[in-house]
Amino acid sequence: MTSTAEIVVIGGGVHGASLAFHLAVADVGHVVLLEKQHIASGPTAQSGAMIRALFNTRTYVDLVVASTRMFENWDAIVGGNAGFVQQGFLRITNTLDAAAIGGDLELTRKAGEPFQMLTTEELSQLVPAGKFQEEEIGILFPTGGYADPFRTTVELADAARRHGAEIREGVQVTDIRIDGGCVTAVETDSGTIATSLAVNCAGSWSDRIAAMAGVQLPILIQPAPTCLFRRPDSMTTIGPILSDGVNQVYLRAMGDAVYRAAHFGLSAEIVDPDNFDDTVPAGQARMLKEGLGNRYDALQRAPSLGGFTALYDMTPDGHPIVGPIENVKGFWCDCGWSGNGFAPAPAVGRSLAQMIIGSAPDIDLGHFCWPRSADVSRRVNCDWIHD
Ligand SMILES: Cc1cc2nc3c(=O)[nH]c(=O)nc-3n(C[C@H](O)[C@H](O)[C@H](O)COP(=O)(O)OP(=O)(O)OC[C@H]3O[C@@H](n4cnc5c(N)ncnc54)[C@H](O)[C@@H]3O)c2cc1C
Repeated sequence: MTSTAEIVVIGGGVHGASLAFHLAVADVGHVVLLEKQHIASGPTAQSGAMIRALFNTRTYVDLVVASTRMFENWDAIVGGNAGFVQQGFLRITNTLDAAAIGGDLELTRKAGEPFQMLTTEELSQLVPAGKFQEEEIGILFPTGGYADPFRTTVELADAARRHGAEIREGVQVTDIRIDGGCVTAVETDSGTIATSLAVNCAGSWSDRIAAMAGVQLPILIQPAPTCLFRRPDSMTTIGPILSDGVNQVYLRAMGDAVYRAAHFGLSAEIVDPDNFDDTVPAGQARMLKEGLGNRYDALQRAPSLGGFTALYDMTPDGHPIVGPIENVKGFWCDCGWSGNGFAPAPAVGRSLAQMIIGSAPDIDLGHFCWPRSADVSRRVNCDWIHD
């Protein structure tokens, strides 16, 4: 069976859903989103989904600020409730060095997003369950928080559908047809879709989708373990995300009874996204509990509820690949988000949709073009992934 579409979006994670939503709102004709399983069946659903305007590159800061405004006004813009909990994001540090705090506060300031420095005493008041050393300080981003990544994505896809996009779940892309250097069709396991524009939002599978178009993307898949703990009675789920740069761990509430926690940084392991161990090694869980116990006595006695290992789609410089791909007309990418793609996604979809329809994007995504422009350096300190 052959059908046609103006634009085919490949992948129903938060990036594909956000793009489909913004394209549908822009009324660009028939938009089809193809998802091989169901919406948010990939790493998106397991995301920490933490949102904070602290990065070393202005583009990320601007995207996260714009996404924050979207989360704050979700019902009016998208419809429904993305589970946004805006209780702030607290980075604990013992130095204000940009590499040590994982971002440049001057960029946050320039973007007009508030933050506040906290002394050790103020930290103890804000987080009574925590133990803080004299030299430690806090940087509180009051507009930071976290969303429900599954709800966010499902609601973007539902809103895209309401605006006329076709969301096709259980449909796998098997090939991309190129003729004379231009995209002419997307092949799926349930038929061909004739189109001149396909956008690769396939996250951990995006190198495979790119290969179908004859494009090589340097994306490696790395495991990211997360542990769950029963909330100790003496600790509260009300309050900011606790992002501890000193012990290199973060802790945030997940519902009323559970905390989720993980180490910052990357495993050296490379895995196959279709065949990897999605459990958490016992040693990792023990080490994490020790790190958390340095900060919160009560967590040393918190029952472990297991955990899961999800995936990062890592590029060599830690920046995503976004925009049209040279030499294959009509083949665009929005992938390789390298462990930092949830927070910017609502705003990325908007600017990318604007680029696709030929209008000026709200936020210039040129920093993420592929091949890179010469002046893009490696993301400062990839250890801050997943913080
Ligand atoms: C444990 C963890 C914690 C994280 N924490 C944060 C955080 O706190 N803040 C933050 O900003 N970011 C965070 N991230 C990163 C963020 O979640 C990801 O960057 C983002 O969710 C990636 O979304 P995506 O849409 O690009 O990809 P995915 O979620 O991978 O979606 C891609 C989709 O494409 C589909 N697909 C693949 N191949 C095909 C095919 N052939 N045909 C059709 N469909 C296909 C897949 O089934 C999948 O649903 C975290 C990530 C992880 C794993």
